[in-house]
Amino acid sequence: MLGGDHFAVMAGPCAVETREQLLLAAHAVAAAGAGVLRGGAFKPRTSPKSFQGLGEAGLRMLAEASAATGLPVVTEVMDPRDVELVATHAAVLQIGSRNMQNFPLLREVGRQRKPVLLKRGAAATLDELLLAADYVLQEGNEQVILCERGVRAFDPSTRYLLDLAAVPVLRQRTNLPIVVDPSHGTGSASLVAPMAKAAMMAGADGLLIEVHPAPEQALCDGKQALLPAEFAALMQELRRLLPLCGKRMVRAGGGAVAGNPSQPSQPSQPSQQSTGSFDDEVIAP
Ligand code: PEP
Ligand code: MN
Repeated sequence: MLGGDHFAVMAGPCAVETREQLLLAAHAVAAAGAGVLRGGAFKPRTSPKSFQGLGEAGLRMLAEASAATGLPVVTEVMDPRDVELVATHAAVLQIGSRNMQNFPLLREVGRQRKPVLLKRGAAATLDELLLAADYVLQEGNEQVILCERGVRAFDPSTRYLLDLAAVPVLRQRTNLPIVVDPSHGTGSASLVAPMAKAAMMAGADGLLIEVHPAPEQALCDGKQALLPAEFAALMQELRRLLPLCGKRMVRAGGGAVAGNPSQPSQPSQPSQQSTGSFDDEVIAP
């Protein structure tokens, strides 16, 4: 399971736009060492005139990219009526910030036996986030991953205010894994790497990062998307820092690997061993 000494980076485009765009992004994030592929097929857009996602066709492309790379997929489900469909294609069901308190949707994903990535609402307190998680847990699904993705604040210098204190606060209140999304949390590609590193040092169990092969052409959230090379450089930095947090990077198919590949892992310590459950059982593609 995500958490404990496992650290997972979930990366990919904001939205699935074309088969080619997704496969380029998927291969790039896999090569850089991501553990999970992200990409939205159902997009919650502020305007109904904006690109809404490719829907089921996008889900099929995600399944193809998952098979091609070995990366399990996390993708958003917005409508309780789509939960079964999304669950047939995805390893992890994402509940977006706008739906954090969509109680019928939370109950529906609670009836699935797949991990749920629950994003904090932009104006939700941490108590409200934890109570939203309770809706999923109460239906019998214990695999909830909490995601801090920034809250609405007064300063337009960043898209949202990424609340990194949420990580240790949540840690004090729950055993659920906690991931941070520095892409939506800042809205700006140049701010993603510093905040990703800060999130890791704050004790996060993982990151959710937007990567696009051509951000300037993106149909959604291009300003905050990293280029594949920028993402690869960030992954290298994260791998260097990870041993300081006592965690190891989760990779596709291979279980957790040592945080710093240049240093030997410690096979004599049971707590350092991969359980394999994150890759092989919990979010297998
Ligand atoms: C996303 O992850 O693509 C997304 C829409 O995020 P949020 O729900 O945090 O806005
Ligand atoms: Mn996005």
